[in-house]
Formats: sequence, structure tokens, C-alpha cells
Amino acid sequence: MNKKINFFVFQDLPLKYAPAVNVWMFVLTLVSGICSVLQVYVVSDFIDAALQTVKKATLDFHLFFALFLLMLTVAIDWLAPRIQVILRQKSELRLLENYRPALLKKCAGLEYTHVEQGKSHDLISRILKETEKKWLDIYQAMLALLKILISIVGILFVIAGYVWWAAVLILLFSVPLFVYSIKSGKKNYQAKRDTSIYSRKYWYLDHVLNSRECLNERKLFGYSDKINKKYADTYYEAFWIETKTQIYWALKTKISGGLSSVAALLIVITLIQPTLAGKISIGLFISLVNAIFLLTSQMSWGLSRNIDTLVTGNEFCKDMREFWQLSEEDGVLELPQYMENIEKIEFRNVTFRYPGTDFYVLKNISFTMNMGKNYALVGSNGAGKTTVVKLLTGLYTDYAGEIMINGKELREYTKAEQKGMFSAVYQDFVQHALTFRENCEIGDLCNAVSQERIEELFKQFELTDTVENFPDGYDTLLGKTREGGLDLSGGQWQKLAMVRALLRPAKIRILDEPTASLDPKMESEVYQLFQQLAGGKLTILISHRLGFAKLADEIIVFDDGVICEQGDFAKLMKKNGLFCKMFEEQRSWYE
Ligand code: ADP
Repeated sequence: MNKKINFFVFQDLPLKYAPAVNVWMFVLTLVSGICSVLQVYVVSDFIDAALQTVKKATLDFHLFFALFLLMLTVAIDWLAPRIQVILRQKSELRLLENYRPALLKKCAGLEYTHVEQGKSHDLISRILKETEKKWLDIYQAMLALLKILISIVGILFVIAGYVWWAAVLILLFSVPLFVYSIKSGKKNYQAKRDTSIYSRKYWYLDHVLNSRECLNERKLFGYSDKINKKYADTYYEAFWIETKTQIYWALKTKISGGLSSVAALLIVITLIQPTLAGKISIGLFISLVNAIFLLTSQMSWGLSRNIDTLVTGNEFCKDMREFWQLSEEDGVLELPQYMENIEKIEFRNVTFRYPGTDFYVLKNISFTMNMGKNYALVGSNGAGKTTVVKLLTGLYTDYAGEIMINGKELREYTKAEQKGMFSAVYQDFVQHALTFRENCEIGDLCNAVSQERIEELFKQFELTDTVENFPDGYDTLLGKTREGGLDLSGGQWQKLAMVRALLRPAKIRILDEPTASLDPKMESEVYQLFQQLAGGKLTILISHRLGFAKLADEIIVFDDGVICEQGDFAKLMKKNGLFCKMFEEQRSWYE
């Protein structure tokens, strides 16, 4: 565990994003802390005044004034926690308004590698989950400790004025309790971490058992019972760790509660003698006894609970610091800047391995592509085709060799220019829960997309009937995520993604196997249509199913990270190499 205290991560402190409300929370803590100390005097004054009244048998102004002060402190005591709850809610809202957008902006600007690599991805998910609540828990624990501190110091001062060594006793009692709380806080955090591994697993299994995405496979493979058993086992493992922690917590609270009562009793005994000697009034004695019992019990559970929160919070702040240090890409949030003209793409001896791996995925690749032509990248799964697209579209920049566009290295173009060069549909294209029209419009945010053009493309992709069958036509909300959302089939979503790509006026168009839901013949037809509609631009089509490759001006065959063959269909078939072999194997798919 990191020994460093990470709480003061100033660049993302919630005070910066919800200053007024958090300052009010701080002021309120000070007031109620000071009030709890003043209460010792107020209660004592009231009891003494009441005793005097009984003794003299006459009501005087002093009693009423003491009663007024007593009621005032009780009212503050009652109101303070309630106001704190309201302030906390306000603060959470402010953070959602001001802090979350900053977090999301940071996420959107992160380098692609952080989002794709597991470790950073886990960190990002942890950070985005209930961040506001975690921050406020930490802040409130700090405030609660401040309040306990004010009460301890205040009451110590009061007691020290009469019996100095009783004050020393309280101090001696608080130090081990403090150390013990930190230790058990760490233990609790470890238990939470252990359970989180299991809970991640059973939440995933829960998803497999209940989600719509897994429905088909669940029915086909009939694995529900098996997964159910695995779910139960994992759940019980987590449940057992949590129960052990709770038992430990309960024991700890009982033991420290018992100890604190003994300590309080000892302190009270020490006050009896000065009271009998008349050094302490009856009122002050009663008030001090009350305050000491309250304080020691607060120290036994309040201290441990808040220190627990801070120890856990320290880990969260460490995550937070790491998150803000993740590197960002310049210009990632800028809109694309479309280029007038692209003549040529040239890969020159490009070699690449993914960050954190030793395995070279592309080995000394060189090829040229010219404007106005259609290219097919083919090869078995894992040969490196998608990686070529990832490098070309600027997702990874740490490759060796050069990627030249119009004679200039890709990395020398701005992000906006790079974005403006390409339009792509990826394997894992997104099914946006937006309307048909919005799904199209996000293809080109720089220009107004005309309804005629959308309708024209829908017609080409045979989507017109689909859209007309939906109640609100182009304004129909798609996807099942919102009430009223309607869903499309896998193939219809793919066509919609292609329409979106074609609406973008970029010069290079890429299809990277988004056609998994279509049969080989249909895939080939859709690819053909995409090529025709791309008229005059440079298209790069990728698939391991080779039917579409017949139409390509040039086929580039990848095998294990190298280019093993290159040429048009006729040339490659004549060569009788890998492409020809693969094509013959698949021939029956197209008959
Ligand atoms: P293809 O598109 O030809 O099927 P890819 O370019 O997707 O192949 O993958 C090439 C190789 O790179 C594969 O061995 C794959 O496992 C590996 N790979 C792909 N993405 C990553 C990644 N993010 N991290 C590490 N390895 C990866």
C-alpha cells in the first residue's frame, strides 16, 4: 500500500468545482464542533441556575437566559446534521454539473491506447463509478474528524482547568484508538478489494444470465444452469469475505465501545474529588460526565468509521491522481478538417507491436495506395489487417517506419486533418441509441446533412421500407436502451453504419469487416454497393471472406504480419498462392 497521502490532489479537488457549498459544509462543522464544547458550559450553567432557583424558591432572569442558551445549542445540534444532508445533496449536484463533464472530457481526450489496454481501462471504469459520492464521503469524513478533534481539544481544555491529569488520561486513551483505527481501516480496505474481484466476476455472470445480448447463445448452448452454479459459488465466496469483515467490524466496535466506557468511568471518578471539594460545581460535574461519555463513545465508533473512509479514500485519490496523469492526445476533441485532395498513401517499412507486448504484429510492411482505386486487405484472422487500419487512422502512433500521405508523414498532420481524411465502419461499430436521422447526422458534424441524401442512401441500401415501417419514420428512436426505442436487426444496423460512413465527405473510406451479421454472398453485395457509392474515392475493404475481392483494383494479402502477395484478382489466382488457395476453399459460399 502506498504510504503517501494522496488526498490533496489539487487539480481535481471538489472544492474547486463546488466551492460555495463545500465551504458552507466546513463552516457548519466548525460551528457544530464549537457548539458541542460550549454545550458543556451551557448545560452546567443551566443546572446550577436551576439548583439555585430551587434553593432560593424564586425565579430569576439568569435561569431563563441559561434555558435560552441551552435551547439554542440543542437547536444547533439538531439542525446541523440535517443542513449537512441538504448541503451534501447540493454539493453532489454541483459536482455532477461541473466535475463530471471535466472527467468525461479527460476520458474523451485520452490516448487510444489507454482505452484499449486492460489496466488503464479498469482504472477509468473505477474512476467514473460514483466519483461524486466517493469524493463527498472523503470530504465528510475529514469534516467529521475535524469535529471530533474540536470536541476533544475543547473538553480537554475544560477538564484540564480543574483536573489536569484527567485530561492526560483522555489523551492517552485517544492515541492507541487512533492507531488501531488506521490499522483496521487498512484491513477493511483489503477485504473490500478482495470482494471486488469476486463481485466483478458475479456481476459479469449475472450479465450473461440476464442480458439480451447473451439470449441467443444462452438458449442455443443451454449453459444457464452451469453459469448459475458458477454465479452462486462466486457470490458465496464474496459473501463470506464480506461477512468475515462485518463480524470483525462488529467485534471491534464492541471491544472499543467497552474500553471507552471503562475509560469514561475512570475519568468521571477522577472528577468526584474536586466536585466534593467545591472546585467543580454540581452543574459542571453533570455536564462533564455527559460530555465525556458522549465523546468517548464518539471516539470509539466515529473515529474508526471515519478513518476507515479516509484510508479507503486514500486509495481512491491515488487512482484519481493516476487517472489525471494519463496522457492525452492533442486535438482529439476537434471536429474533422476535410482535405481537398489526397493522392497517395504509402506504408514504408512499417513495423509495430502493441504497447506492453513483445510480439510484432506488423513486420516491415510496405505498400502504396492511390486515389480513385479500391483495395482489398485479406488474410486469415489475426494476420494484421485491422492493425493496418488502426495505424492509418492514427489510433497508434508509436510504429517504426513511415506512413506517408501525399508525401508527408501521417504523424505530422494535425488530429483534425487526420480525422478529415477517413471515414470508416469498424467491426465493433456502435449501435447508437439515437433516431435514424441523428444516426446519419453524426457522420458529418461539420456540414448539414440533407434529408434527400439520406433518403437516397437508404434506398440504395434497401432500408427505405424499414424506416417507413417504423411509426416516426426517420425520427424513430432506435435501440432498446430507452423506453419507446425500437430495434433493428444486426444486418440493418450494419447498413445504417455504412450510410453514416458514406455521408462523410472524407477521401478515404474503410470497411473493416462490419458485416459479420450478413451471409458471405450478401456481404459481397453490400461491399460492392459501398464501392460503387464511394465513386472516385479511395476505398479499403477488409474481410477474411474473399468474395468481394474480385472487384478490387488491388488485393493485398497478409499472413502473420507480413504481406505475402499483392495484385489484382486475376494475377493472384494465376499465381496459385495463398490467396488462390483461400479463395478456392471458400468458393462454395458464393455459389
Ligand atoms: P486481423 O484484422 O487480421 O484479424 P488484427 O490486426 O486485429 O488481425 O490483429 C493482429 C494481431 O494483433 C493478433 O495477434 C491480435 O491478437 C493482436 N492484437 C490486436 N489488438 C491488440 C491489442 N489491443 N493488444 C495486443 N494485441 C493485439
